[in-house]
Formats: sequence, structure tokens, C-alpha cells
Amino acid sequence: MDKLQVFCRELRKREKRSREIEPRMWSENDTLDNKITKAFVFILKTRGCFWAHHSGCTMCGYFNDSIPDITEKEIARQFELALQKYQGEKIVKIFTSGSFLDEREVPTVMQRKMLEKFFEKADKVIIESRPEFIENISKIEPIPKNKVLEVAMGLESANDRVLKHSINKGFTFSQWRDAAKGVIDRNMELKTYILVKPPFLTEAEAIKDALHSARKVSDISDTLSFNPVAIHANTLVEYLWSRKLYRPPWLWSVAEILEGAAEIFDGQIKGDVVAGGRRRGAHNCGKCDGAFLNAVERFTLHQEKNAFKKLKCGCREEWLDSLEVEGFIKG
Ligand code: SF4
Ligand SMILES: [Zn+2]
Repeated sequence: MDKLQVFCRELRKREKRSREIEPRMWSENDTLDNKITKAFVFILKTRGCFWAHHSGCTMCGYFNDSIPDITEKEIARQFELALQKYQGEKIVKIFTSGSFLDEREVPTVMQRKMLEKFFEKADKVIIESRPEFIENISKIEPIPKNKVLEVAMGLESANDRVLKHSINKGFTFSQWRDAAKGVIDRNMELKTYILVKPPFLTEAEAIKDALHSARKVSDISDTLSFNPVAIHANTLVEYLWSRKLYRPPWLWSVAEILEGAAEIFDGQIKGDVVAGGRRRGAHNCGKCDGAFLNAVERFTLHQEKNAFKKLKCGCREEWLDSLEVEGFIKG
């Protein structure tokens, strides 16, 4: 373990976990075949991401919600609760704050049961996984005819230096890329998460890095989802932020990235802003944040590529100044 990993692991020990097994669930709008469609979101609590047990990504606070000693019975109970709440939405998102395909999080038989049951009514099910577990897809095949399984894989950055030293992602771009090919070869859809402003990058580098990453995966992804960093408890990013060594990205940068991505990628582009407009999330000056967040939503749901065109605010000058700051990525 290198020093960054030891430190991330150290910070994680400060967590106070609740043992509440009730999963979080809600219904939201998404798009399916270019139409606005209801999606059922089911956040299944598991023992947590294996990588978070090792050391974890520098911005990820999902481990705060995981239950390390959760039992199979408790997983099954959450599934029952989800079925009671499920209203037949055409899209179902099963998120574990880790990897659905990791048998230590969700036993294979439960993975199969969940997909089988939700596919009775849903046309598309979305799961998340790290690259290490993509091979396990073979254990849940076949997916019913005319149904779509979308696998969302966090890449965050296609730059190995950023992956290692800024994010502590635990894999390289080429390892991610091999796994991504495994998803596509099985005729499943691939959603790629790209992180906006990993720690130690300046605002300008963050924009460059996100767009460079988009370019490197545009040939293989069905959807690109840009995720601006939000400050989660007990993370390296929170450590830096609380010492004024990190600021979440400007919404101006998010707009720049989404617009830039639209020029290089034909598939679905999403911006998923957590804690937007707040100190712990992507924000501008406070006055224009609402308008920007609304534009991100229109861009994401309706693929409205000119959603940001008319936005103006005095804080643009301050944002442009922040782009001048000297950076981390050299050469
Ligand atoms: S970001 Fe994903 S891979 Fe990284 S620790 Fe969190 S859940 Fe695990
Ligand atoms: Zn402003």
C-alpha cells in the first residue's frame, strides 16, 4: 500500500455507521429511446465496495452507508421492500455503492433473482460495477430478449497519473478498457462515469482531463455521465476541502465540459450534480447556480445542447481567473 492509500484508509476509520438496513428508493425521470421515462432507483445496502475496504477512492464516501457485516437475509429483505415499492417503472437502477457483480456484495443467486424479477416489467436495468467483476456477467446471462442491461463503470479519468495519484482508483485505463470491451462484446450497454475535478487538479486541468477522458472512451460508451466531485464525509477530498486546499468544480466548468463532450460524442451525455449550488458540491457564485443546475437537467434529460448558451453572470470573470492557476499535470 502506498502513502495515499494508507491515508485514505486511515480517514475511513472515523466513520460512524448506522445499522439501518432500510434501502433508499425513489422514482425519477430518465430517458429511454430518447423519451422521458420513469426510473425506479434502488440503493441496496451491502458490505460495501471491496476497494473501499482496501483504501478507497479519494472522493468516495459511499462506505459511510455500507454495512460490513450485512447478512444474505438482510439483502433479501431489502429486495422484498424494493418489490413492494416498485411501480413497474420501465427503467430500474440497482445501485450498491460498490459493484453489483461482486458476489461478496450481492450473492450471484440474488443478482439473478433481482434481474429476473425487475425484467418482468422493466425494459432496462442499470447496474454498476468495477472492472474486476465484469467477467461475472456470464453468471447472470442470458438477459431476456428485447431487454437492456446497462453496466455503469466508473472510469473517472483516462489519465493513469490522475487515476493513481489523484483518485487512487486501483486500476489503469487499459484495465478499465479491457473490461469495457467485455461489456460491449456481450451486447450490453456501457455507461462511463467521468469525474469532474479530481483533487490536485486545477480547474483548467479538470476541464481538459474530463474532455480527454471522454475522447478516449467515446468509441466504446453508449452513455457518458459526468460527475462533479461532491465533498463526502471521511474522505481525502473532505480533508483537503476543510483545509481550503480543494474547491468543488465551478458550474461554468461543468457547462464547458458538457458542451465540449457534445462535440466529440454522439451518444447520451449526462451531468449528475450532487449537492449542486452548495459549498460541498459544484457551485458558482450563489446567484446563478439555480439557472445552471436547471440547464444541466435540460441538457441531461432532453439532450438540449444549447442549454448553457444564454447563461450570464458576473462570476464568470472569477471563474476565468481560476483557470489561470498553475497546475498538476505536466507534459
Ligand atoms: S468510487 Fe466506486 S470504486 Fe471507488 S471506492 Fe467508491 S464505490 Fe468503490
Ligand atoms: Zn454567478
